[in-house]
Amino acid sequence: MAKILVVDDSRLISHVAKTILTQRGHEIILAQDGLEGLEAAKSQQPDLILLDLIMPVMDGYQMCQNLKEEDSTKEIPVIMLTSKAEPVDKVKGLELGALDYVTKPFDESELVTRVNIQLRLRQLYEALQKKNRQLQNLANRDGLTDLYNHRYFHDQLSKDFLRAQRYHESLSCILLDIDYFKKFNDTYGHQTGDIVLKTLGQLIKDSIRDSDFAARYGGEEFAIILYYTDKPDAVHVAERLRHMVEHCEIPDKDNLLHFTISLGIATFPDERIHNYKQIVECADKALYQAKGNGRNRVECY
Ligand SMILES: [Mg+2]
Repeated sequence: MAKILVVDDSRLISHVAKTILTQRGHEIILAQDGLEGLEAAKSQQPDLILLDLIMPVMDGYQMCQNLKEEDSTKEIPVIMLTSKAEPVDKVKGLELGALDYVTKPFDESELVTRVNIQLRLRQLYEALQKKNRQLQNLANRDGLTDLYNHRYFHDQLSKDFLRAQRYHESLSCILLDIDYFKKFNDTYGHQTGDIVLKTLGQLIKDSIRDSDFAARYGGEEFAIILYYTDKPDAVHVAERLRHMVEHCEIPDKDNLLHFTISLGIATFPDERIHNYKQIVECADKALYQAKGNGRNRVECY
């Protein structure tokens, strides 16, 4: 069952279309002119629009053009309704984005067939869109931790940094990595190492706001972007995460394993930071300092 918007100034035509399509199990919304039709299209988001071209107030050409200019309605398929009584320019309608036309008075099976074809195409199109989004999401994620990956982190940060610069917002970047991870892997094996990475990924997700952004930056290195966050607040987030990690226990055979992380923070605005690469570099320097100062600690650039 689909939701179909019929826009026609003739009550008779609307009634006939409604009767035929309701019998096929569709839900029909009616509008009498282009303006009303446009409102209904935006608020009801129909799966298909049957559109008369000659109407008062706003005609079908204008409505079609407005539909295609609006993000929320541009993907809705349109079938033009044409008639001998109202000679119309079908080519113009097709150029404006209509996909097909049906001639009035309706031949019932023709109307139903053309409607079904467009609904089927729309279903296929939506399935394709969904698949594309899934693929895009997969391409942006790290398979082990399900955090974003290095490439997407840079894409995102470059955009976020420009925005922060333009609107004078504060933005903090935390780089962190697992202390002595190589030794950990050598001692307990890579499988356990992977569990540690996954666990840390989850702890990072738990410790930031939904609106913040976290990525697996490299092997055992992670990155977090905190929006609208100044240095003291970033330190607070970093310390809380460091503390959570320090107290986390990972069961391995008969043991409970512990691990720690070191964290470096850089915050914009800072007179030494003028682009997104510099904020990462500065956070990296702070991380290096945290390692040098004994690990399991937070340092600011
Ligand atoms: Mg008309």
